[in-house]
Amino acid sequence: MDRTGNSSDMDPEQQANLAQMQPMSSSYADGLSPYEHKGKVGLEEIFDTEEEVQRKIQILASWVKQSKHIVCHTGAGISTAAGIPDFRGPQGVWTLERKGEKPKFNKSFNEVMPTSTHMAIKTLVDHNIVKFVVSQNIDGLHLRSGLGRQHLAELHGNMFTEQCNKCNGLFLRSDATTSVGCKYLNKNCPGKKGRMCRGKIKDTILDWEHNLPEEELNMADWHSNLADLSIAMGTTMQIVPSGNLPTYAKKRGGKLVICNLQPTKHDKKADLIINTYTDRVMDGLLKALELEASSYDPSLDPTKKTFAPKEPGDGKHVFGHVLDNSKLTTVHKVLPQLADK
Ligand SMILES: [Zn+2]
Repeated sequence: MDRTGNSSDMDPEQQANLAQMQPMSSSYADGLSPYEHKGKVGLEEIFDTEEEVQRKIQILASWVKQSKHIVCHTGAGISTAAGIPDFRGPQGVWTLERKGEKPKFNKSFNEVMPTSTHMAIKTLVDHNIVKFVVSQNIDGLHLRSGLGRQHLAELHGNMFTEQCNKCNGLFLRSDATTSVGCKYLNKNCPGKKGRMCRGKIKDTILDWEHNLPEEELNMADWHSNLADLSIAMGTTMQIVPSGNLPTYAKKRGGKLVICNLQPTKHDKKADLIINTYTDRVMDGLLKALELEASSYDPSLDPTKKTFAPKEPGDGKHVFGHVLDNSKLTTVHKVLPQLADK
C-alpha cells in the first residue's frame, strides 16, 4: 500500500469504503509527496474590531459597486467553517505536521457543505457582479454551491472530478475520489458526446511537482489580468502561481482586497486588508449591497445529480455528467488579443 492508502490490488468498492472512513487530511495531504517549501505556517491570527470590520465592509461594498470586472480568489480559509482544516493556520495541516500532529476537526469531503462564503460568491456571480472565481481548493464546494462551471477555475484539482488523458474530458463523481496526485484509476474513458475514446481516467488532484491544468490556468490568468478588483479570501497567497494572480489587478490600476485571518505574502500590495472570518465579510457585503444570499440547493449541486450507469456493475463509481469545459478552451483564442491591451 502506498502513502495515499491506495493499493493496486484493492477494488473500487474497497477503495470507496476506505475513502468514507478516512478524514480529508489522510486522503489528501498525506497523499502528497514530501515537500519542504510549504512557506510560513502557524502565523498568529489577527482579528479586526467589530467597528473596523463594519467600516471595511462598507469600503469594500463601495469598490464593488464601482468595479466592472471583479475576480474572487479563494483558498482553504473559506472552507474551514465547513469543517475542513486549512493548511497554514494555527490548527492547519502543515502547521500541525511540523509538530507531528494531525488536525482535530476533520470531516470527509463527502460530509461537508458549501459555506456562507461559497453561497455569497455564487450569489454575486448570479447577479453578474463577480465575473470569475479562481480557487486553490480541491474540496469541490464552489461547484457544489451551484456556481456555473464557466465562472470557475480550479487550479489544484477537484476531489469530485476525474479527467481523461486523451480527450481531456472532465467527469463528475458522486463521491470524493480515493486517490490524489493525478493517478490512473483503472477506468476507461466513456467518451464525450457519443464519441468513442480510448483514453484512461485519472484523478485531478495535483501533487507538488505537477504543472497546473493549462485551460484552467489560462482562464484564471485572463480574468486576473482583466480584473479591476481582486478579492483574495482565505489564502496566505504563498503558493505560486495561484497566490500571485490576485496581484495582477494592480498592474492596470485595479484594487486588491485581502480577507484573511493571518498576514499574507502580498499584504503590502493590498488596498484593503480585512482580518476576520470570510463568512462575516461576505454576509456583510451582501447586506451592504442589499442582496439576499442563495441557499444551498441540491438540485444545483452537480455531484448530487443521479445518472444511469454506462455499464452494468459500475455501481456508485459510474461517471457522472461531463463538465462543460468547452468555454475554457475558447479562452486560448482570446488571449493573444489581451496581450495588445
Ligand atoms: Zn477521453
